[in-house]
Amino acid sequence: MSKLQQRLSQVQAQIRRFALSCDRDPTGVRLIAVSKTRPASEIREVWKAGQKAFAENYLQDALQKIPLLHDCDIEWHFIGRIQSNKTRPIAENFTWVHTLSSLKHGRRLSEQRPEGLPPINICVQLNLTGEASKSGISADELAPLLEKLADLPHLRLRGLMTMPPASATTAEQHEVFSRLHQLLTEMNRQGHGLDSLSMGMSGDMQAAICEGATMVRIGTAI
Ligand SMILES: *Cc1c(COP(=O)(O)O)cnc(C)c1O
Repeated sequence: MSKLQQRLSQVQAQIRRFALSCDRDPTGVRLIAVSKTRPASEIREVWKAGQKAFAENYLQDALQKIPLLHDCDIEWHFIGRIQSNKTRPIAENFTWVHTLSSLKHGRRLSEQRPEGLPPINICVQLNLTGEASKSGISADELAPLLEKLADLPHLRLRGLMTMPPASATTAEQHEVFSRLHQLLTEMNRQGHGLDSLSMGMSGDMQAAICEGATMVRIGTAI
């Protein structure tokens, strides 16, 4: 096993351990390997070890790597900031978008999703701590946005995504993640059938898993 493959299996074991430690079924937590800054050759190596879902932040880099890996059955997730004039390649190349935070971008992704592909899976990004440097909507904006997004035919609304501040203590991480979980429950009470909580990175995955993450986005630890 290569170094990278070892790191992958360490992360898989960690996820399993964290899930069991808070009485969750480990199979309910999906590992999304964040491959930003990693070359296609490393992605291929990790894919060979069985990892299928990879996430990219930087669209230009992703668009260079995706064709190099066309023979691999990779599911691509977009986790970067969305720019209005760059929605088309996102709609064409990705199965999931975790960082939607406007109706305008939602409309464009729906319109630009190619015929013949299933609807694109969407998580709406929340900014629950008001950090100016992060995108995402506030909790108040969520219900009205979801109402409108729900009408778009080529989007499939799956869930919510958030990131606590990098400086957050463990207690603060729990608070932010638990808030996101509550919001998901509230939205489902209003009739949205959301099944995904995209939360948890290398530094805060334990808190995220214990608060109900269904997808963790892990880069550095792999
Ligand atoms: C980079 C990134 C990650 C992965 O973070 P690590 O700390 O490297 O695990 C997850 N989510 C988003 C949105 C990122 O930009």
